Amino acid sequence: MYDYIIVGQGIAGSMLSWFLMKANQKVLVIDKLNPSSSSNIASGMTNPITGRRFVKTWLADDMIPFAEETYRGLEKLLKEEFYHPVTIFKLFDSIKTQNDWSARCASAGYTAYLKNENIIYLDKQKVKNDFGGFEINGGSRLHADKFLSLYRNLLKEKEALREEDFSFSDLNVEGDIVSYKGIKARKIIFSEGANAIQNPYFKFFPFQLAKGECLILRIENFYSDKVIIGEAGIVPLPEKDLYYIGATHAWHYDDDQPSEIGRNEILGNLSTVLSAPFEIVDQKAAIRPTVKDRRPFIGFHPEFRNVGIFNGMGTKGISLAPFFAQHFTEHLLQQKPLIKEVDIKRFLS
Ligand SMILES: Cc1cc2nc3c(=O)[nH]c(=O)nc-3n(C[C@H](O)[C@H](O)[C@H](O)COP(=O)(O)OP(=O)(O)OC[C@H]3O[C@@H](n4cnc5c(N)ncnc54)[C@H](O)[C@@H]3O)c2cc1C
Repeated sequence: MYDYIIVGQGIAGSMLSWFLMKANQKVLVIDKLNPSSSSNIASGMTNPITGRRFVKTWLADDMIPFAEETYRGLEKLLKEEFYHPVTIFKLFDSIKTQNDWSARCASAGYTAYLKNENIIYLDKQKVKNDFGGFEINGGSRLHADKFLSLYRNLLKEKEALREEDFSFSDLNVEGDIVSYKGIKARKIIFSEGANAIQNPYFKFFPFQLAKGECLILRIENFYSDKVIIGEAGIVPLPEKDLYYIGATHAWHYDDDQPSEIGRNEILGNLSTVLSAPFEIVDQKAAIRPTVKDRRPFIGFHPEFRNVGIFNGMGTKGISLAPFFAQHFTEHLLQQKPLIKEVDIKRFLS
């Protein structure tokens, strides 16, 4: 008998299973292995300051250090490196954005993230930066596909993984125990990412899914020591001269495959940032599990009390998942209340 069955081994299901196992719970993860899942193709960034108006990311002061502590701990356990602090170079596109940033610098709570207060200019042969940019401290990159693959092996070693497409017709949730193909558990929690739109228990999930596409480019003699963010983001990859370029954000789309529209959009955005020559190596696409109010979606079904969901990580799963997996674990094991912004009850009134 298991304490929890978790469906999905993206960043959400991985983190939830990890915190539950750390709390001595017996967990079984069911995942069908999707190399093109949102987590597997994410650029893996955590960024404390985002958007055109340079706003501090929601819960950044708590969430980003907690993500670092979690991934560092997992690096030690798995004996591999996959978490890297990075300097983020944010480009200004006008005098106005320079002034907006100066105003932000003076606000309380921002100084920790300022590498320095000066406007910096990069080599114009490489980057179009007439207005320069500024450097942000405290960002990082998780090599997400590497981490997920290593963590999957750990689950296999612990005999805590079943590789298959979850079949709802084999799930029985009557009474206090759930059963699935002869396996019994106290609770089942779904972390299927965007695939949750097919979950019959959470049809009320207020998804507003967003397709994201990225390109992998080869750029020689470029900046491998910083992530450059303008209309497009340029993220150095561990392999020499390779850079992740992204990402698009499409509310309307035909499928989850790389598209010509996506490629053209990225190249159009990139042309405002990159002046160095490049070669396209690959293109990837996935659907982000975004919720209407841009907050995670966590809790239990109002009628089936042992059927839960841990989802809605949207555009920020890398930083949200560790923090809220621990939060949900404390809710499950110590009855701590879920914070209202993430509790699914906000959509149930
Ligand atoms: C192009 C792009 C770039 C991104 N960049 C970033 C970034 O830099 N930083 C950041 O924080 N976030 C980023 N994101 C968002 C991030 O990827 C998501 O927030 C996160 O991956 C969501 O994780 P998840 O575990 O909820 O879903 P997923 O990663 O989709 O995982 C769901 C898992 O469930 C499994 N599954 C689903 N249905 C079933 C079933 N029926 N049976 C068995 N298994 C099933 C799938 O195989 C998969 O492994 C990006 C997303 C995209 C698309």
